[in-house]
Amino acid sequence: MSTTVLPQLELKSLRGVGPKLAEKLSDYGVRSVEDLLFHLPLRYQDRTRITPIAALQMNSEAVIEGEIRAADIVFGRRRSLVARLQDGSGTITLRFFHFSAAQKNKLSPGSRIRCFGSVRRGSSGLEMFHPEYSHCESAEPVVEERLTAIYPSTTGISQKQWRSLCAQALTLLARNAPTDLLPAQYNYGFSLIEALDYLHKPPPDAALGLLQEGRHPAQLRLAMEELVAHHLALLRLRSQQQSVESPALPQCPESHQALLKALPFQPTAAQQRVIAEISQDMAQSKPMLRLLQGDVGSGKTLVAASAALQAISNGYQVAVMAPTEILAEQHRQNFSSWLAPLAISPAVLTGRLKGKSREALLQQLASGDIQLVIGTHALFQSDVQFNKLGLVVVDEQHRFGVHQRLSLTEKATARSGRPHQLVMTATPIPRTLSMVAYADLDCSIIDQLPPGRQAVSTALIDAARRQQVIERIASACASGRQAYWVCTLVEESDVLQAQAAESTAAELREALPHLGIGLIHGRLPSKEKEAVMQAFKSGQLALLVATTVIEVGVDVPNASLMIIENPERLGLAQLHQLRGRVGRGDTASHCVLLYQSPLSANGRERLSAMRESNDGFYIAEKDLALRGPGEVLGTRQTGDISFRIANLELHADLLEQAQTIGNTLRQQPELELHLIRRWTGEKQRFANV
Ligand code: ADP
Ligand code: MG
Repeated sequence: MSTTVLPQLELKSLRGVGPKLAEKLSDYGVRSVEDLLFHLPLRYQDRTRITPIAALQMNSEAVIEGEIRAADIVFGRRRSLVARLQDGSGTITLRFFHFSAAQKNKLSPGSRIRCFGSVRRGSSGLEMFHPEYSHCESAEPVVEERLTAIYPSTTGISQKQWRSLCAQALTLLARNAPTDLLPAQYNYGFSLIEALDYLHKPPPDAALGLLQEGRHPAQLRLAMEELVAHHLALLRLRSQQQSVESPALPQCPESHQALLKALPFQPTAAQQRVIAEISQDMAQSKPMLRLLQGDVGSGKTLVAASAALQAISNGYQVAVMAPTEILAEQHRQNFSSWLAPLAISPAVLTGRLKGKSREALLQQLASGDIQLVIGTHALFQSDVQFNKLGLVVVDEQHRFGVHQRLSLTEKATARSGRPHQLVMTATPIPRTLSMVAYADLDCSIIDQLPPGRQAVSTALIDAARRQQVIERIASACASGRQAYWVCTLVEESDVLQAQAAESTAAELREALPHLGIGLIHGRLPSKEKEAVMQAFKSGQLALLVATTVIEVGVDVPNASLMIIENPERLGLAQLHQLRGRVGRGDTASHCVLLYQSPLSANGRERLSAMRESNDGFYIAEKDLALRGPGEVLGTRQTGDISFRIANLELHADLLEQAQTIGNTLRQQPELELHLIRRWTGEKQRFANV
């Protein structure tokens, strides 16, 4: 089969495009005629008919035509020009705040004009503010033949220019008709050309409501093709990754039993299932790429330890990446106690390890003397080399970029093959998102918490009642409980965050002089951080004032109260993570969201979701609905899922079918390639991930 692609014509071949305009267009991501065709209108105006004034609907846009009855300058709060326009059916007020004397004179009583504008209710009944208008000359065409497209455009390019460019591009398209890549039974009744033509120039009877919602069949047709292409690109990426060799690392039953014996608890059924899934993957000679999702406190660390043991039993090394020093240290403690009976003791590599001791550690990693290393970003440094790296575990993966994760797998020497990868996250990823963002990863889910956990009850309290909250801490701590006080700041600045936490700690020390109060933030020297954490863990400190550094991983079961200041500044996923620091023991736990009023409607809804549920998956879905995919996935990952037309909120229901179609198209490699090129274009970095 031969397929023609969309015209790969240069923009300069269009009338009116010189170097200047071409540059402006490229700001909109428009670099070819094809890009232009996919630059779809944001909305439409109906200028195809004249509406009688009596039939106008509030808040809608319309063309009206009539005779000026009066035009006067009115001196109210703002000077304005007010004209009355009448047709056979009724009268409307036209209001202009910017006008010239000449303009006023031309709007003389008796003259006929045609206006386009948005209708609202004003003090004098129906009004249009600043309508576009022209004086009626008899020879003028009455109205537009198609709906008028309004393109996304902020500066530099006028709507008229967009319309002219797109019209030219459509003409070119009609001359070089591209082959339809989407099988006809899935195309919603539109070929590619028909869909593009329709969306740039909809006929007067087009369903404006559907278009505005992004749910018109012509839009669905394009979104579907794009989602199919995206899915194919991910499948291709995945098969590229799997074409590399990895060491087969089967489970060693004796050491696995020894690990289970060393545990102070019985793994949950969900943990056992997930451990088995991972174990099977690692026994294969192709790389494991598995995403482990499990709510805060579901026990992912043990799963990581089990996978690590499996690699080590086969004589391979393991690297565990944690996003903070605090978490790395905590992992070291857990891994040490669980793996001690097997004579495995983990090393820790963080930024604070310097000089001779760092050199010694690197040397032992390179020689293979160290079997297990837990580290922070410091593991990415180029002089960190392994002897036989068999497994990379990335904890709290949302804190890392894709590229950081990869740089570690690339450290594996050719000799040992590509390491297996286990990526863990406590931020549940809504299904729609994981289908498009992580389709290249297999997924395991721990859908069960260890027994005995109690739901954290969450209250929203106005910051005006701060004093009461402080008293509540006093009484909780008096009965032997411990508490966190979390200070949040929007700024990513460590300095400002530290300052905020310091002043809050000072305030609380004054208010609660009998309590042991600790302070922890990112600017403290590591030694001090560790000492404070240790003092809190051992119960020496009753209250820990912290920045969001404690967001991930920190595990102190006796802490049962958490105050979060200004929670409205944080995303739901982050709040859920923070809250997960309490409710880890067997006492009832509480979380107080100390918000600054007034809350926006959206803010209130988000915080209410926290009160309603302790289920990370529910909260993630809410977060997606309220904030959108970009915010939920974090900027680091959204680059990979930017679409031209498809929209994860509007078109989530197409995903499943897109995958099915994609799977059938894989049998036609040529078609597959065209689709990927058409839609993912330059995004070849996909291939490199
Ligand atoms: P997360 O999934 O948030 O990383 P952790 O691995 O930190 O959770 O586990 C949370 C706490 O639960 C730890 O104290 C851990 O030792 C404990 N834990 C893990 N699995 C179980 C289990 N099956 N039964 C009881 N406690 C468990
Ligand atoms: Mg964890």
